[in-house]
Amino acid sequence: MLNLATLCFPDQEKSCFYCCPPIRDPEADPLDAIVEKRRLLRSNRQDLQKNLDNPHEISGEECWGLGFLDDQEKQTGCLLHPLRHQGSDLRHLTGYQFKCANALCREALVFAELSEVEQKFCLNLCRGMDSFNYSSRRNPLMRLLAWDKEMVQVIVCESLENGLKVSPDNKTGVHSNKLQKSSDSTGGYDFLWQKLDFRLDGFLALMIAKQKGLNFLRHNLDDYIRLRDDLISGLREQLTLQITSATPLIPAHKLKIPLSLSRLLKFGTDLWELPSGCEEQVLQYIENKLTTFSL
Ligand code: SF4
Ligand code: SF4
Repeated sequence: MLNLATLCFPDQEKSCFYCCPPIRDPEADPLDAIVEKRRLLRSNRQDLQKNLDNPHEISGEECWGLGFLDDQEKQTGCLLHPLRHQGSDLRHLTGYQFKCANALCREALVFAELSEVEQKFCLNLCRGMDSFNYSSRRNPLMRLLAWDKEMVQVIVCESLENGLKVSPDNKTGVHSNKLQKSSDSTGGYDFLWQKLDFRLDGFLALMIAKQKGLNFLRHNLDDYIRLRDDLISGLREQLTLQITSATPLIPAHKLKIPLSLSRLLKFGTDLWELPSGCEEQVLQYIENKLTTFSL
C-alpha cells in the first residue's frame, strides 16, 4: 500500500518542508541560511491572521504560508493546508495552489514503494534530526533514496544479513549537528554518495551490487570508477558515430530502458537524444564491459 505521508511527516519530532515553495530554486537547501529561515517560520506562524487578511503572491524564495506547526517548533509545514482549516484549502491565496497540491518529490515516491521494514531502516537514518536537517537533501536518508528503490532494497537486505538493527528502538541514527561525522550510521554505504553519483552510477552500481554485492563494489571502487569512465567514453563514441542528420532521434528518458540508465546516458555521455531503437546495443555494450569487471 502506498504511504506517501510517512516520508513527509515521519513522527511528531520533525517533518519535511523541502518542496515549499514549489517554485523554489532547485539548488536551494533547507540548511542554507538556517537562522533566517527559523525566524521566518516563527513569524509566519505568529502573523498568519495578518497575512490571511492581506494575502499576496509568493516568490521562489519563500512562502508566508510555511511555518512551524506547533508551539515547540518541531514540525514545519503548510499553515494554509485544508487539514488546518476544516477542509478549506487556502493555498490559492499564494497564487500556486495547483503546484502546492501536486508537489511530490521522487524520494517520497521511492519511499512509498518500500516495505515497512525497509521504510523503518530508512527512517532510522534520521533519528534525532530536526525538521531542517530532515528536510535537507544532504542527509543520508534523502541521499539514499535518490538511488531508487532497488538499491535501497539491496542495502537493507545486506544490512539485515550483517545484523544491523532496523527496529524503531535502534539508536544508530544521525543527530542534527553530527550529520557529517555520523554518516557511517548508514553501515558504510555512504561511499555511494560520497564517491559516486546516483545519476552516473545508479544503473551500473546496481548491476554490480546484484551480481557481486555492494562489498565487492566498495572494495574495488577505484577500478569501478575507471571502468565507468571508460564505458561512458566508449558509449559516447559509438552512439555519436551513428548520429547523422537523417538519424531519427528520441529523448533518452523515452527509450525503453530503466530511468537510471537514461540518467547515465544523459549525464554521462551528454547525449540527451539518441538513435531510436538503440536500447539493445546500449545494454549489450554495458553487459560486455561489466562482465570483464566482475570476473
Ligand atoms: S519534499 Fe518530498 S518528502 Fe518532503 S514534503 Fe515534499 S513530497 Fe514530502
Ligand atoms: S502555500 Fe503551503 S504548500 Fe504552498 S508553498 Fe506555501 S507552505 Fe508550501
